[in-house]
Amino acid sequence: MDQHIELSNVTKSFPDAATPAVRNVSLSIDRGEIVALLGPSGCGKTTTLRLIAGFESPEDGTITIAGRVVANHQAFLQPEHRGVGMVFQDYALFPHLTVRDNIAFGLRRRERSTRNARVDELIELTGLSEFEDRYPHQLSGGQQQRVAMARALAPEPHVLLLDEPFSNLDTELRFQMRAEVRNLLKQVGTTAILVTHDQQEAMMMADRMAVMLEGSIEQVDAPDVIYHYPANRAVAKFVGQGTFVPATVAGSVADSDLGTFELERNSAAEKVDLLLRPRDVTIEVDPDGIAYVVSRTFQGAEFTYLVQLPCGVQLISNQPSHVDVSPGARVRVRCNRVRLAAYDNYAQVAMTSPPPEVMPPSLSDLSTSSIAPAPGSDAGAAESTSRLSD
Ligand code: ADP
Ligand code: MG
Repeated sequence: MDQHIELSNVTKSFPDAATPAVRNVSLSIDRGEIVALLGPSGCGKTTTLRLIAGFESPEDGTITIAGRVVANHQAFLQPEHRGVGMVFQDYALFPHLTVRDNIAFGLRRRERSTRNARVDELIELTGLSEFEDRYPHQLSGGQQQRVAMARALAPEPHVLLLDEPFSNLDTELRFQMRAEVRNLLKQVGTTAILVTHDQQEAMMMADRMAVMLEGSIEQVDAPDVIYHYPANRAVAKFVGQGTFVPATVAGSVADSDLGTFELERNSAAEKVDLLLRPRDVTIEVDPDGIAYVVSRTFQGAEFTYLVQLPCGVQLISNQPSHVDVSPGARVRVRCNRVRLAAYDNYAQVAMTSPPPEVMPPSLSDLSTSSIAPAPGSDAGAAESTSRLSD
């Protein structure tokens, strides 16, 4: 894979703003890769896309597209020469042009026969054959979205930039279009940057996610890495729900209300917080448990429990909705993940690993007579490391 799009230390400020809208952003994207730029409203996502497209120029840094520097302190390539396609939230289709003519729009300088062949190809690819003579107002939201995709892809751009492309669709259609657009991009092999403030959308569509907060990119990683091992507290809080459970560190051991965890590397911090996502624990009614259920909220497939831990923290825990524990019940909380990320006041400082003498619960649960358990690795021992104790 070659680096197809490269932003290197790109900064952009608007007049009268206290801080830059885009601050020292570096991002490398491979050919054919889909990267989601995820962040809250106003964090600089659209400005980043506009810098890549050439509608804004950076005050600092370098932007490279397909090996060519398109913007730095001395060069600036006009948008129409960058080979960038765009799909906007409102699709921006031409209302007075048919589907066919909308798609052909970016190909007007090509010869008629090549243009027609390319339009046919896109109409076929996006399943718009029945609709090619209709006008945009005669189409559903999903169909308009397909026309916008086809129009942007027709000139074979180096990169397709999509800015909140699904926000005008209702929930069900949005779900369907995410899968459809991802499949289309992969089929064509287009490099794409998808801007969204919707984390589920980013996770479903992207090969990698770039989390942007207040003008800076905080972490670029695969969606599951971002979710379970966020680089710092701000990313952890922005992406998904979870609870920071305090632990006291002695050497390579972190001791918490959820038990004792071995750290993969020694942390200089004496106190860390372990990040627990809502599905990272199981809870069981136990009169001797030292945690108790504060509240239970029915969510359909799941209950969301708030569980009071002795350390003072309330843990968010999602359980299948057939696991029904009443508020007030004493419970035992068991961590069901082996690798947890540990944080100091700002960033991730360590990762937990299973202690050598204790097998991960998933393995010990499976242990039968044919799998000889290592000494101390029976279910009881595994439990004692994670069972709450006073
Ligand atoms: P996002 O797309 O993540 O919601 P934007 O990139 O649109 O965020 O905006 C980032 C910041 O830059 C915001 O504070 C916004 O008000 C500001 N901003 C965006 N465009 C302009 C502009 N043309 N002039 C002045 N400020 C702008
Ligand atoms: Mg925006």
